[in-house]
Amino acid sequence: MTTSHYIAGRWVEGQGSDCISVNDPALGQPFAELMAASAAQVDQAVAAARVALPAWKATSASERAGYLRGFAEQLGQRREALISLQMRNNGKPRHEAEIDLDDAIATFNYYAELAEQLPSKNREVPLAAPGFTARTRLEPVGVVGLIVPWNFPLVTSAWKLAPALAAGCTVVLKPSEVTPLVEQAYGQIADSLGLPAGVLNIVNGKAETGAALGNHTGLDKLSFTGSNSVGSQVMRSASAQCRPVTLELGGKSAIVVFDDCDVDQAVDWIVAGITWNAGQMCSATSRLLVHDGIADALLPRLQAALENLRVGNPLTEEVDMGPLTSQAQWLKVASYFATAREEGLQCLAGGRALDRDGWFVSPTLYTDVPKDSRLWNEEIFGPVLCARRFATEAQAIAETNDSRFGLVATVCSADLARAERVADALEVGHVWINSVQAVFVETSWGGTKGSGIGRELGPWGLSAYQSVKHVTRCLG
Ligand code: NAD
Repeated sequence: MTTSHYIAGRWVEGQGSDCISVNDPALGQPFAELMAASAAQVDQAVAAARVALPAWKATSASERAGYLRGFAEQLGQRREALISLQMRNNGKPRHEAEIDLDDAIATFNYYAELAEQLPSKNREVPLAAPGFTARTRLEPVGVVGLIVPWNFPLVTSAWKLAPALAAGCTVVLKPSEVTPLVEQAYGQIADSLGLPAGVLNIVNGKAETGAALGNHTGLDKLSFTGSNSVGSQVMRSASAQCRPVTLELGGKSAIVVFDDCDVDQAVDWIVAGITWNAGQMCSATSRLLVHDGIADALLPRLQAALENLRVGNPLTEEVDMGPLTSQAQWLKVASYFATAREEGLQCLAGGRALDRDGWFVSPTLYTDVPKDSRLWNEEIFGPVLCARRFATEAQAIAETNDSRFGLVATVCSADLARAERVADALEVGHVWINSVQAVFVETSWGGTKGSGIGRELGPWGLSAYQSVKHVTRCLG
């Protein structure tokens, strides 16, 4: 049993009723377990964050930046352990686990830099009215709850934690019960940096612990990344209390391939967009819209590329794709294979769970999927690609936008003017042209429509934890 909750600067054992099994998805076997935090422990964590707030918000921005750089440095010092843990608990291939760690390090360094620039943002506001002066103060929102999922545990936490601490907020972080170990590094680092007690608290647990935090009346804001169904509960609770919320939710994103693309290059982009992290990405480009003029050449090569992917245990084999991270996710993806059979979809690759231990599925391609298919419309969260052909640019734009989600999209074309034009017409938060899943800390992350509310990363990620205040003085 692991001591797993970091509250008021101390590691404590869980007093909740849920026992959490931490699994190796490549074997389908648990390798650790821990007790969830109780609602009373969530209270203690929120109270500790409240007590720590006045002193933390009074620290200088450069002092906070120093701590953030310390987080970045110490993540680097724990490199091998964190990579191995993500491979074991998430089933990530090594190169993906490395990229996640580098992303988290870059995020802490970036927000350290933004924290250092903060004093210059608190400035005089030129007024047209004579006899008055006004100045801006960007203040921390206060005590924030951060609830995150399991697919990129180091990364989604870093995207919230680093800007929240930079802004001067104190936090209670609740990692996913599927991957509760990797984010313990943030508590260990806080300890070793001497971060004041209560500035960062970590409580682990399942839905009950999440709800105890999501419903807590002691928070000034909640930032949530996860499914739409839980996101709507989190939003209901925020609305009952009239407090702000950021929601990073699901997606059903398109990759649009025009007929002037190099076929092999396009296949590489399509495969990466749907098989990275075994397709367990909110931003997976799980809808392929392929131009009539290239479809017959592209689809057989795409089929071959998916069938040739090396799927296996990242800890013991050279792999391109690992298992799904949880049994629940494996069962969910398998249920979509059954739905596809019921709907009579044409399966060009995969469409089945692998006949071996662990939670593996084969990379899957369905073609000519009808627009009313459940697989075309719902977020599957696995390596399952649905393809349709299009004839005109207008049709590609309309079919991409015809979704309740609006997270990301990819446009592939040698005609850059067209690619830019299409990018501008898409109702999503981020478009990649001739690249896939290229996320930079300087650009924003977040979606339109059902993909959420608010933005992370870039200066927008910091603003999410700041309250704008003006002080106006009459010169009398
Ligand atoms: P989930 O909604 O099941 O769980 C997310 C977190 O919420 C977990 O920590 C969970 O314990 C907690 N939780 C569960 N019930 C709760 C409740 N009633 N109140 C408060 N918290 C509760 O999501 P998941 O399965 O962990 O993650 C997959 C989902 O996350 C997908 O839909 C994916 O698209 C989304 N996601 C979105 C982004 C983004 O940036 N938009 C990034 C990653 C994942």
